Amino acid sequence: MIFSDQHMHSNFSGDSKAEMSDMIVSALNKGLKTICFTDHYDPLFPCYLPDEGRLFDLDTKRYNENAVKIRNDEKLQDKINVRIGMELGIYPKVYEMCKEIAGGYPYDFIILSSHTAGGLDPYLPSYWENIDPVDGIRKYYEEILQNLQNFDDFDIYGHLDYCVRYTNATMEQRSINNYKEIFREIFRILINKNKGIEINSCGLRRGNLKEFNPNPEIIKFYKECGGEIITFGSDAHKPEDIAYGINEACEVLKNIGFEYIADFKERKISFTKI
Ligand SMILES: [Zn+2]
Ligand SMILES: [Zn+2]
Repeated sequence: MIFSDQHMHSNFSGDSKAEMSDMIVSALNKGLKTICFTDHYDPLFPCYLPDEGRLFDLDTKRYNENAVKIRNDEKLQDKINVRIGMELGIYPKVYEMCKEIAGGYPYDFIILSSHTAGGLDPYLPSYWENIDPVDGIRKYYEEILQNLQNFDDFDIYGHLDYCVRYTNATMEQRSINNYKEIFREIFRILINKNKGIEINSCGLRRGNLKEFNPNPEIIKFYKECGGEIITFGSDAHKPEDIAYGINEACEVLKNIGFEYIADFKERKISFTKI
């Protein structure tokens, strides 16, 4: 069993209305032992729609003031571990900014995520116009690789195949076989840097595919390459979505051969048997 959810958002993220306190109550009701808030910060996000404002900026000062209160809340301490992290959206132009942001406050955990590739967002149809689906997917993975070659201050890479959540590519076009050499290098670097990946259940609820991100084929290849560090994340933006798919995720991981799930406190890893 898994009792930790290491990826969730609150109203510190521009795309969530959830109070942190309501998220914590939901996590308690679902029997979780450890959760981590990972609110969005995509510095200079390049793909805002005209009416969005700077939706994915994070007020880090206020966020961390709140984190101190939560860490010191005695009522919570013997019930649940609440950690404060961040989902840091990266792309090549913002490496220096991301470095400053990651080091700016004492976060427990940093998920590095690619929400764009080549300055375009695969969530939007414009990403997939005038590009072959396989090339569009490859472009996204190649940018992850480039990010990994240039950036170290994170703990796990988020939803590795986020780009496919919103594509109409066929199963064959999405298959890891088309991208295996890129993934081999991605995993070699992650493992060398002692970083991990996550199994993210948002794709079970949203998008076209109704599967985990990354899909189990990719997680299996990570394991074959020697990867051991994996976290579970619901990517909940609402209290009811916390821990979504957690038991299915546990089964997927056990079938692949994982025996432990990871979580982070003060950027240090610990493993719990599943
Ligand atoms: Zn994300
Ligand atoms: Zn997220």
